[in-house]
Amino acid sequence: MEQGRRQLLLGTIICKKCDRIIAEQDTEKVIVYYVECNKRDCKEQAVAEREVQYIEA
Ligand SMILES: [Zn+2]
Repeated sequence: MEQGRRQLLLGTIICKKCDRIIAEQDTEKVIVYYVECNKRDCKEQAVAEREVQYIEA
């Protein structure tokens, strides 16, 4: 069964290490967040500082 309203998920959270989509969020703009995912390979490379970039389309 489907609900009447549909929401577009424009916000995407992508791992900047492995380029995997971690999550999607409902946002007003098309936006991409680059973070590190929970994989060890990604975390080990991650430095203490967090870098978040966003791209508007
Ligand atoms: Zn990753």
